Amino acid sequence: SVPNVVFEGPSPEKHEPLNDYSGPENGDTLNAYISAGKEELYPIHRTYYAVKNNIIFKIDPTTCGSAILQDYMSPFYATIATRFGRIYGLPLRTTNMDEFGMGSHSTNSHFGAVQNVPPYEKYSAGGSSGGSAVAVAAGPFKMALGTDTGGSVRLPAAYTGIVGFKPSYGFVSRFGVIPYANSLDTVGVLARTVAGVAESRLFHGYDAKDPTHATVEARTRMNANLANSDVCPLDIHDLGGRQHLKIGIPLEYNIAEMDSVVRQAWQETLEKLQSEGHTIVPVSLPNTKHALSAYYILAAAEAASNLSKYDGVRYGNRSSASDGAGDVLYSKTRGELFGEETKRRILLGSYTLSSSAIDNYFIKAQKIRRLVQRDFDRVFILNNPLRPSDEQFDLTDMDENVEMADKLGPSRVDFIICPTAPTLSPKLEEVVSQSPVESYMNDVFTVPASLAGLPAISVPFRLSSEDHETGAPPYVGIQVIGQYSDDWRVLAAGRVIE
Ligand code: GLN
Repeated sequence: SVPNVVFEGPSPEKHEPLNDYSGPENGDTLNAYISAGKEELYPIHRTYYAVKNNIIFKIDPTTCGSAILQDYMSPFYATIATRFGRIYGLPLRTTNMDEFGMGSHSTNSHFGAVQNVPPYEKYSAGGSSGGSAVAVAAGPFKMALGTDTGGSVRLPAAYTGIVGFKPSYGFVSRFGVIPYANSLDTVGVLARTVAGVAESRLFHGYDAKDPTHATVEARTRMNANLANSDVCPLDIHDLGGRQHLKIGIPLEYNIAEMDSVVRQAWQETLEKLQSEGHTIVPVSLPNTKHALSAYYILAAAEAASNLSKYDGVRYGNRSSASDGAGDVLYSKTRGELFGEETKRRILLGSYTLSSSAIDNYFIKAQKIRRLVQRDFDRVFILNNPLRPSDEQFDLTDMDENVEMADKLGPSRVDFIICPTAPTLSPKLEEVVSQSPVESYMNDVFTVPASLAGLPAISVPFRLSSEDHETGAPPYVGIQVIGQYSDDWRVLAAGRVIE
């Protein structure tokens, strides 16, 4: 009775062509799009979806929000583009984003910052898939594709009051998705409702062109793992109040930096779940406190390696100031055409991979990643079908928490529920004056699931006006995190809290 991991939603014919927004707030004035409108080229039902401009669709250059790829036309389509193209036709618009996905507010784009939906234009739309979020939240798009490396689908969903889903790592092909940090990158979906996400038909058959895409055998094993487990079956189409979920609340997530309205929204969500008969239990994820630093070491290291190919020769644009040869070509092109944050990450990543620093940074961060994964494995009812072994690393020097966590006993929960971000959407002017480290703080609740490759969804909680006097967009994202491969139940749980 446990649903199959590979989900095929209803056929697209069942959808009304959605074009219920045509007001001035349709994203054009909010800098949500990279491309100019091509309405004249496509029939109106092509407003079905928009797509982040790091996924190759060939309707526009795939810029990744960068000057270096401003005119880059790929010779092929991404696998997800071919798939969506076959189901829905080509998308009408490509959406603005932080350069190469590096950011949390869509302010690090060569094409300017994305603005949140009116009357909140002065606030952050979240990032890095902020353009995709606004394309949906402001209309006319029913859904948008984004990518989530450390929260880039979930955070913009939270700040714009819509739903954002990041699947298990390796469940959606990344072929033709320009990499930021390969071991963390996923393709996700934003929509106005959980049902909209579930019906997006994001999951697809095996793609041999992505070596990290889950094979047919792996999926069969994962389905068997689900079917043989004690998890409560959840049917997204028939929630019916019969399910009884055990929900874990990670004690370490109750941080001092959390806004009181966010904490209150979290608490109200849990109280409502409890009143509906679900069980809420505290769980401990002791390595969470190191997850953010580990993420920013690993993501930057992979980015530094990935971005080395933009050399002004093979890919992308070349600086006009260069003499076309040697080091000058390389340094001028990269110095001029990468944005500040991208350069910061390249420097950071190159440093942590250098021979004198690798042991203290990169290797330690990999160990922390394993510990974060193990924390999650301890608390979920469902076993991790990948059964991560710790053989690769000797973790004994790292995990002072093993004893303590094991004493807490296996809590065995279906899901973890926590806020998506510690604060409401900040003002754009605050964001630009923040230090990089302050802006990395926004990702504190989204990166643990990314490090562990887990499925997670952000569902909006709307604040009532008396709870909320700050003028910020009145939404708190509430995040459901599930065990690896438990994507379908995560979506259903998203509907339970919606
Ligand atoms: N804000 C995070 C970063 O800058 C996550 C971005 C993402 O998921 N692409 O790395």
